[in-house]
Amino acid sequence: MKNIKTINDFNFKNKTALIRVDFNVPINNAYQITDDTRISYSIPTIQKIISEKGKIVLLSHFGRPKGIPSKILSLKFLIPFLYKKFKLSVNFCENCIGESVEKKVSNLKNGEILLLENLRFHKEEEEENENFAFNLSKLGNIYVNDAFSVSHRFHSSITILPKFFKKKCIGFLMEKEIQFLNKFLSGKVKKPITILLGGAKVSSKIKIIENFIKFANYILIGGGMAYPFIKINGGKIGNSIFEKNKKIEKTIIKILDKYHKKNGTLFFPKDVIVADSFKNTANTKIVPINSIPYGWMGLDLGPNSIKYFCNIIEKSKTIFWNGPMGVFEFHNFSLGTRSIAKAITNATKKGAFSLVGGGDSIASLKMEGCEKKISYLSTGGGAMLESLKNKMLPGIKAIIHK
Ligand code: AMP
Repeated sequence: MKNIKTINDFNFKNKTALIRVDFNVPINNAYQITDDTRISYSIPTIQKIISEKGKIVLLSHFGRPKGIPSKILSLKFLIPFLYKKFKLSVNFCENCIGESVEKKVSNLKNGEILLLENLRFHKEEEEENENFAFNLSKLGNIYVNDAFSVSHRFHSSITILPKFFKKKCIGFLMEKEIQFLNKFLSGKVKKPITILLGGAKVSSKIKIIENFIKFANYILIGGGMAYPFIKINGGKIGNSIFEKNKKIEKTIIKILDKYHKKNGTLFFPKDVIVADSFKNTANTKIVPINSIPYGWMGLDLGPNSIKYFCNIIEKSKTIFWNGPMGVFEFHNFSLGTRSIAKAITNATKKGAFSLVGGGDSIASLKMEGCEKKISYLSTGGGAMLESLKNKMLPGIKAIIHK
């Protein structure tokens, strides 16, 4: 963080802050926001600039319009919501570059906010386009990146736009994310340290195990993440999810041989609920994880695994969680994930520090109504996983003052 300026390094009086936020919030069919964490976390940055009598231009994307403007992916629906959240009126501009936008920006008064239309209505946003970024750069004096969740992407507003600014920094949301994740990676946190990894995309998380296994006390591997380990260890996984990939297999073997044999840090479910088809109403039974019959697939933790994992979690002092313990979208296979969410909440109540990231894990906390009881919810799934691979995100690199 040495050469990276934060928002506290600048005074915004009479300045226009061009803030890259991520307001790509999940919505339901009625356009109601189902999780506003990203917007809520951006409030401190906005408040600081407004309190100093600066002007704000907000840049964001929404969905995947792939360069084609459309009403359904317009950011305009956010205006009344932002008004309630910020307790300030927010103006809207139907585009994000061009003369009309520049005019609107030049008419902004101190303390005013302008939200620009979806950046991804221009295909150039996702192409690291110098010209597009240059046009955006005309809209502010100080560039602020407060969009942690997209900072792993090589997109114009993330990696190219800051090049055009002498004054650039990260916002409070970004600073918090980096601090918490660095704290975790340093291993200088209270022990026992428990890492819980689940979900289905083994390739995106395997490297993280390699990093964490050097200092974590317990690494609990559940959900679809567990099966490649079980299979490589000689277990029978039936039709359970299994990402066939030579590179992953090699890394798993390395993790098992080099670290696990020495320190026994990896923990797997003991029993699982298996189903005869991939649907909520499938026939089920409980079997040991390493003897799943052919034709059956493991879709949730069994009762012994729930007890086993929850006991470890509840005696931990630092907990990190990413990825569901089963196909929690199907109610009949959600108990494992929901129990884990509750155990992390209990441990946090008893004083543990908990960090949870990834849309599915946060959604399951919500199912149990305990998302507010976690120490820190990361706003980034992919960005968080990339950071935990010990990599500096391209969006953070682009802020470095040379
Ligand atoms: P990820 O993006 O890697 O965190 O994966 C999340 C997805 O993993 C969710 O949609 C879950 O339904 C899925 N998942 C978790 N456990 C399993 C499992 N045992 N079999 C198949 N899919 C799973």
